[in-house]
Amino acid sequence: MSAHGRAPAERVVVIVLDGLRPDHVRPDLTPNILRLAARGARYRQAHSVFPSMTRVATSSIASGANPRTHGVVGNAFWHFEAFPDRAADTSKYADLARIAALDPRGVLTAETFADRLAQAGRRMAVVHSGSSGSAFLINPRVRENGHWTFSIHGGDHTLTPEANAAMEAKFGPRPAPELPRFAQMTYGTTVFVEHVLAEMKPDLALIWLPEPDTSYHYRKIGSADALAALRHADLCVGRILDHLEAGNALARTAVILLSDHGQITVNEAVPLFETLRAGGFDAATRGAEVSIVGTSGASGEIRLRRPDPALRDRIAAFLAEQPDMGLLFSRGREGGGVEGEAPHTLAFDLLQFGHNRAPDLAFVLRSDAGPDPDGLPGLGRYMGGDVPLMGGMHGGLNRHELATVLVLTGAGIAPVGLLDQPAGLPDIAPTLLALLGIEPAPGMTGRVLAEAFERTPEAGQQAEFGTEESRTEIFETALGSHVQRLERRVLDGRAYLVSGTRIER
Ligand SMILES: [Zn+2]
Repeated sequence: MSAHGRAPAERVVVIVLDGLRPDHVRPDLTPNILRLAARGARYRQAHSVFPSMTRVATSSIASGANPRTHGVVGNAFWHFEAFPDRAADTSKYADLARIAALDPRGVLTAETFADRLAQAGRRMAVVHSGSSGSAFLINPRVRENGHWTFSIHGGDHTLTPEANAAMEAKFGPRPAPELPRFAQMTYGTTVFVEHVLAEMKPDLALIWLPEPDTSYHYRKIGSADALAALRHADLCVGRILDHLEAGNALARTAVILLSDHGQITVNEAVPLFETLRAGGFDAATRGAEVSIVGTSGASGEIRLRRPDPALRDRIAAFLAEQPDMGLLFSRGREGGGVEGEAPHTLAFDLLQFGHNRAPDLAFVLRSDAGPDPDGLPGLGRYMGGDVPLMGGMHGGLNRHELATVLVLTGAGIAPVGLLDQPAGLPDIAPTLLALLGIEPAPGMTGRVLAEAFERTPEAGQQAEFGTEESRTEIFETALGSHVQRLERRVLDGRAYLVSGTRIER
């Protein structure tokens, strides 16, 4: 382990804006993000993981790996042993704890950057405004690690409730949730700047802002409310940046700002499980007696209560003929290949999704390039739910669900401007560890984003990464009478998901 003095940065600050679309990084909406980017590096090709959902993304950020490694295979997923009658809801800590009790590997079946920090004797603090499940997954062993997680939703939403007690004593009661989440963002940023950065000064400080995701979902992506929420989130970024600049801390502190996924507009609700039942299948999204279960959204899973490859194949063939189906996936065949075990499917391996918690089939509903009524690209179907029609959604493989924001700046980062190398969520953990002079965990499959690093003698060796040219890979198989196409970008042995589409033959 290198000494602190030799590491590119003494501290790292991570800022996550949930759901932020890269085409919303504009001078009129996000002047502070652009101020941050102007002195560092900004990735033009940054990508989420599949499914492009917050808890899956959080787990990839934490573990430096894809779902194949970390095992959080959906915001909701079925785990029959833990919950025979419904899908596990990863937004709830209690659901994650029940899975953890049954799996000696834990919910996250991988080491996290927080674990590596703890092993190196380094401190970490998180200000989280997502669900208790999200706050848990960013640092599942926060207590054993001696770290600190504050939740905007209260002490019940963190494993370190003393953090909440202390902050509420210092800054007053937490604001109730409202839409847009102005007050929660302001309060969280106050805790982050005035306590975490000014007083605690941990080696790694992370703040997770709930917007623009929440307002994209419930007020529409291009709505005045969503844009106001984004401007407010950007003001919070500005407060953090002002604090770091005032203390001349950027000479010692690296900053990584990112979003976890994008969003597209949903313009059609599709009753997929009713269609399956009408087709003669005993399928539903809940119930202990149902033989075929699944989850809903813009993407989801289908799981058989008892293994039955012939039934799985009949379901795949039926789904492949549905006009609303986008892409279908199943476990890869022995010996590899593009096609999954079930006909009409692509292999999970292409998504880096094949964990032993993965379902029998994963599906993505049809989407296209749009535009939506506000002129933003990306229109898709979903299965209904609390998000209104014409609201924003994510979870699938549309390029605007997968496209994310990624900016690096401050200590150890070169002012290189826009970068064309592909990057992704699993790269965050190895990169922030490298900035602090800490080796990645053995299971971390992401790469160090060394093309953004200053070329110091210490960083010289790392700088050789990322000099390779990236290339595009296209995979296609028949989806009934159509074709499903998956596009990936590959660099340095890492594959990044760019888009998945259904096209006419
Ligand atoms: Zn969301």
